[in-house]
Amino acid sequence: MEFCGKIVVVTGGTRGIGRAISLHFAQEGALVFAAYLKNDEAAESLEREAAALPGRISVIKADVRTSEGARAVIDAAAGDSGYIDVLVNNAGILRDSYLAMMSEKDWADVIESNLYPLFHCCKWGIRKMLSRRKGSIVNISSISAYTGNPGQTNYAASKGAAISFTRTLARETGPMGIRVNAVAPGLIDTDMVSSLKPEVVDSIIKASALNRIGRTEEVAEAVAFLSSDRAAYITGQCLIVDGGIA
Ligand code: NAD
Repeated sequence: MEFCGKIVVVTGGTRGIGRAISLHFAQEGALVFAAYLKNDEAAESLEREAAALPGRISVIKADVRTSEGARAVIDAAAGDSGYIDVLVNNAGILRDSYLAMMSEKDWADVIESNLYPLFHCCKWGIRKMLSRRKGSIVNISSISAYTGNPGQTNYAASKGAAISFTRTLARETGPMGIRVNAVAPGLIDTDMVSSLKPEVVDSIIKASALNRIGRTEEVAEAVAFLSSDRAAYITGQCLIVDGGIA
């Protein structure tokens, strides 16, 4: 049990990729705090599923786009112990359209949902890692940051920023023993992908060397590796998990 007793925060941790990440850590003995925004049913079913695992998953309804929401999640996780071990910034949204037709709202919503949580959660999270000079942060980016998918200027801008943010924060916090990395998934089978047109999904699959869609567990494996001591000398990096597109 690689993460036995470790305190792990996963934003957007009750559905899709985040759900697989939460379950992976709980399977390895961690005490997971999974933040979510809306879907109470998914959150409750995750808690039930986790009851059979060696670790534990506690769900927290909070909006991590705001400082108050992010702080509430981090404080709940740190609790009496006053620290957290791992922070996974996974929450994110997609609002695709060609730039010429993109509404200001779709631009702002994506930047706000994908980028602001990194600022707020890392800020509060690092404060709960500093006392022990120990901790690991993993930010979920996207292959879109590298390949530039048409219709995703807002999304690609937010996910590219996540990589620059990761590299810079890693330099700030490295001397304090805190590692910061990113994972850039390709096309992964979640609700988010069900909003894409079937022809778009097909073309992305065909562009991949492995010629298939990815599984959420395959992203969770990469996140767990970067969070663990096996990656003790890795920081400021982005690990691409895309079946060979980029
Ligand atoms: P999903 O829509 O299935 O789940 C997203 C989760 O984020 C939900 O649980 C939602 O409640 C939560 N969330 C969104 N905004 C939030 C907020 N403000 N506060 C708290 N929680 C919030 O999405 P997914 O496909 O599992 O994607 C997870 C991450 O992976 C996202 O950052 C996404 O951009 C990234 N990603 C996904 C794919 C893919 O193909 N699915 C590819 C590359 C990157």
